[in-house]
Amino acid sequence: MALAVTNAPRFTAAEAMQMAVELYGMRAEAEPLPSERDQNFLLRTESGDRFVLKIANAGERREVLEYQNAAIQRLAERCGDLRFPRMAGPMVSSGGYLVRLFTWVEGTCMARAPRHSEEMLASLGRAVALIDRALAGFSHPAAQRTLHWDIRHADLAREHAHLLPEGRRRIIDAGFAAWEQVDWSALRRGVIHGDANDYNVLIDGDRVVSILDLGDSVETAVVCDLAIAIAYAMLGKPDPVAAARAMVEAYHGEYPLTEAEVDHLWTLAVARLCLSVCYSAHHALTLPENDYLGVTDAPAWTLLERLSEFPEGWPRDVFRRACGFSRGRGAAAIVASRRDHLGASLSLSYRQPLHITHGWRQRLFSTAGRGYLDCVNNVAHVGHSHPRVAEAAATQMRALNTNTRYLHEHLAEYIERLTATLPAPLSVAYLVCSGSEANELALRLARAHTGRDQVIVVDTAYHGNTNALVDLSPYKFNGPGGRGKPAHVHVVPTPDPYRGGFRGPQDVREAAQRAGAVAAFFCESALSCAGQVILPPGYLRDAFDAVREAGGVCVADEVQTGFGRAGSHFWMFETQDAVPDIVTMGKPIGNGHPLGAVVTTREIAQSFANGMEYFNTFGGNPVSCAAGLAVLDVIRDEGLQENARDTGAYLLGRLQELTGRHAILGDVRGRGLFLGIEFVRDRGTREPAAAEASAAVEAMKERGVLLSTDGPLHNVIKIKPPLVFSRSDADLLVRELEEVLA
Ligand code: PMP
Repeated sequence: MALAVTNAPRFTAAEAMQMAVELYGMRAEAEPLPSERDQNFLLRTESGDRFVLKIANAGERREVLEYQNAAIQRLAERCGDLRFPRMAGPMVSSGGYLVRLFTWVEGTCMARAPRHSEEMLASLGRAVALIDRALAGFSHPAAQRTLHWDIRHADLAREHAHLLPEGRRRIIDAGFAAWEQVDWSALRRGVIHGDANDYNVLIDGDRVVSILDLGDSVETAVVCDLAIAIAYAMLGKPDPVAAARAMVEAYHGEYPLTEAEVDHLWTLAVARLCLSVCYSAHHALTLPENDYLGVTDAPAWTLLERLSEFPEGWPRDVFRRACGFSRGRGAAAIVASRRDHLGASLSLSYRQPLHITHGWRQRLFSTAGRGYLDCVNNVAHVGHSHPRVAEAAATQMRALNTNTRYLHEHLAEYIERLTATLPAPLSVAYLVCSGSEANELALRLARAHTGRDQVIVVDTAYHGNTNALVDLSPYKFNGPGGRGKPAHVHVVPTPDPYRGGFRGPQDVREAAQRAGAVAAFFCESALSCAGQVILPPGYLRDAFDAVREAGGVCVADEVQTGFGRAGSHFWMFETQDAVPDIVTMGKPIGNGHPLGAVVTTREIAQSFANGMEYFNTFGGNPVSCAAGLAVLDVIRDEGLQENARDTGAYLLGRLQELTGRHAILGDVRGRGLFLGIEFVRDRGTREPAAAEASAAVEAMKERGVLLSTDGPLHNVIKIKPPLVFSRSDADLLVRELEEVLA
C-alpha cells in the first residue's frame, strides 16, 4: 500500500493542461483536486465546460481501471436518481500512467456544508443504498482484489497498531477484537462504492446528488459500504449515533438490510475508523509530507475516544430499532400502554418523554441515538451501569438470594462496613428495600424508644410514600390530593437562607413545646424537595439539642444526601456538626438496586427489640448486600467523595459567576455535588420564575443535558449527578446553560 501511495503521479497543472491537449484535443485550464493514490485535475474549457482529468497511480493495473469504468457506467445507467460522471474519451496510456477524462458532475461538496442536517444524512444513507442496489449482481475479475481500505482486510492496518501510544492502542485493540468476531459468511457479498466520505459526496441543498470516486470500489460484504459512509458521517457530530441512525434508517428504507448486516454494522464502522487511524500512524512515519492522508486523523481520534465511552450494545440497539428488527416498542406505544395499564399517579419527565435504553457513568442513551449528560440522577451514585456493582449483584444472584434468616458473610461485612462510616454511637443497622421503608422503620424505632407519638418535620419536606410518611411530608399532605396536616405532626418553617421566614433552631424548640410528647424530629441533612436548600451552619446541631431536651430522638434523612455527595464528608449531617440518633438511607446506597438502611444507637435498637420481630423478606438479602458492598468499594477506590468535593466546588464557582451576568438567577447554592439554582423574575421581590426554570430545563434537554426543577415554588433547578461527574461535564453544563439563558 505504501508503494501505491509513493507511486502517486506528480504532474503540475501546466503538464495536465498539456496532457488534455495531446490526449483529448482539449484546451482547458487545469486545477488540482485532492486524491490519495492518483492525481485528478479539474479542467475548465474556454466555453465554460468542466471535465475531470484522472491520472492513475503508476502501480494501478489497467484491468482495475477498466473495472471502475464499467462500474461507473452501470451506476450511470441504473441509478437515475443520482448523477454520475461519464467517460468523455478513451482511457489512454501516457508516460507510464493511465489517463481518463470524465464529465464534471454538478453539486456542492458535502464536506463544505456548514452543517449536516438529519435530512441530508438520510439522503446520504439513501444514496448509498441506491448505489449498492444498482451494483447488486455486477461483477468483474478485478473487483476481487485485496484492497487495504476494505474492512474485510482490516488485519493489514492492524499491523501498524504498535505505532500508537498505549491509551489509543487500547481503543484500537477493542475495535479490532470486535472485528475478529465478525461472521463474514452471514453477510451478503457484492461490489461496493467503498468511499462515501463527505469529500466524495455532492449535495444540492439537503439532498445528496452524487457520490464520486470509485477508486476504492471492491467486492466485499455489501454492508461495508454503509459502514464506511457512517464512519465518515459520524466525524465531528455532536451525536454520532443519531447521525448514523438517520443514515441506517434511510438506507434500509431503500434497500433493506438483513438482520445480520444490521447487527454487524457498528463493529464494521468502528473497525473502519480503527483501520484509518492505523494507516495515518503509518503514513505519519513514512510519508510525513502528504497532508491528505492525515486529514481525518484528528477527528477520527476524537470520535473513537467518544465511541469508546458508549455503552456496549447501545448503537446496535438503536440500529435494530431503526430497521424494525427490535422487539422493543416505540415511545408512542409505551406511552399508550402506560396510559392504559399503569396507575395514573405518576408523571413523566419532559414534554417529549425520553426513551432511554442504556446508561454509562454520568450519561444516558436514547433509542434516537442521542447521549445525554445526566445531572439529576442521584441513584446511579457511582455511575450508571457500573460494572463492579453489576458484576457483584449478578454473581451473587447466580449463587444465592434468600432472606436474612440464614447466615451470610455479605450481610455481616456490609453492616460492619456501613456502620464504620458513621460516628461511634450509630452502630446498629437494619437493612430494608427503599428510602420509604427506612423512614417508616425510623418512625417505629423513635416511637418504640420514646413511647410517644408526636413528630416534628420541616415544611415542604418529603420522607416517603407510605401512609405514615405522607403524614410526615408537608410536600404531600399540603400538596394536590393531600388531606392537610395530621394532628400528631408539627411543621417548622423551612430553614431556607435565601427566602428567610424562619428563626432557626428556635422554631424547633417551640414546636417541641407545642407537641408536648415529641417522639422524633425528621429532617434531611440538606433539603431536597424544599429546593436544594443548604441548611444554615449548625442548624441541625442546635435543633437536635432542642429535640433531645424535649425527650425526642433526631432522625437525619440521608436518602438523597448520603454516601459522599457532600464532598467534605461522607454524610451531609457531618457538615452540620451534628450527630443524629437515627440515620436513614436509600437511593444511592445500591446504585439502583433497591436497598435502604436505618442505622441507630444500641439503646434505641434495644427499645425496639420488644418481642415483636422486624422481618423484611428482601431487606439485607445477599444480592443487595453484594451491590451495597460494591458501591462502598467504588466510592473508596475511585475517590468519589473527593471528586464530589472538588468538582462540586468548581461547578458552584462557575455557576456563581453566571449570576453576575444573568439577573434571573436569584441564588446559586450547593455543597459537594448537591446544588440548586433558584430562578427569580425580580431579585428584589424574589418573585419565583417557575415557567422560566422549566423552559430552561426543556431547552437544556434539547442540548443533551438532563436537569429538573424542584422546590415548593417549582423554580429551583436541581443538580445532583452521579459522583463520577467531571470538570469537563461541569464546563459543558455551564456553557449550555449560559447559551440557554442568553
Ligand atoms: N426521603 C427523601 C428525602 C427522599 O427524597 C425520598 C425519595 N424521593 C424518600 C425518602 C423515599 O425514598 P423511596 O422513594 O426510595 O421510598
